[in-house]
Amino acid sequence: MADNLQRITAEIAAACAHVGRLPSDVTLVAVTKYAELAWVRRLVELGVRDLAESRPQQLVERAETLPSEIRWHLIGHLQRNKVKSVLRRTELIHSVDSLRLLERISGVAAEQSLRPRVLLEVNVAGEAAKDGLPFAELMSQWDAFQAVPQVDIVGLMTMAPLAADPEAARPVFRALRQLRDELATQAAPHVKLTELSMGMSGDFVVAIEEGATLIRIGSRLFEGL
Ligand SMILES: *Cc1c(COP(=O)(O)O)cnc(C)c1O
Repeated sequence: MADNLQRITAEIAAACAHVGRLPSDVTLVAVTKYAELAWVRRLVELGVRDLAESRPQQLVERAETLPSEIRWHLIGHLQRNKVKSVLRRTELIHSVDSLRLLERISGVAAEQSLRPRVLLEVNVAGEAAKDGLPFAELMSQWDAFQAVPQVDIVGLMTMAPLAADPEAARPVFRALRQLRDELATQAAPHVKLTELSMGMSGDFVVAIEEGATLIRIGSRLFEGL
């Protein structure tokens, strides 16, 4: 695992150098949804602090078991009835895909005296089977999203369609960045859209070139184990 991590870290540095960005501006979020607990512990020993789960229940179980310095990210679909259990445990929710869900998060945050940070998940490619807000819906509801109290919307997230060629993801990532720039011009003063969560094992180099600040990597970390 140390070798995998080292290779990925080198690829992140090279991608940053290629476009004149600082490696410190890109956070590697290790996706542990298919990883055994022993592997997750090893990652933490190797210094990885940002871990992601796609199922709220597994996130909560692991957060209770593993060291408290871990920052947990939720990247999978969140049902409104799971918000209560997961909110206190998460550093960042990447997968807010409706106004109703954001309102639910806001309500629970008020009860628990929290101020969660969230990303809005966008279905850039318009794939019918994918989670995420359609472009047009987000644009038309942007003022309503921003008006939800007790939460900080800090950026956008997307998943590119699966493809053999990472270049196929480039237009998707570029479109997400442009959407962020567009929403930022219409943002209330307290809303700072600094984060772009995009790029996975197969396409994170392209995502960094297009401005990703959070890359979500699972299989590459654990391959060969
Ligand atoms: C599983 C998953 C990842 C990681 O995918 P890999 O290809 O294994 O790196 C990233 N983002 C989301 C939303 C996922 O569900």
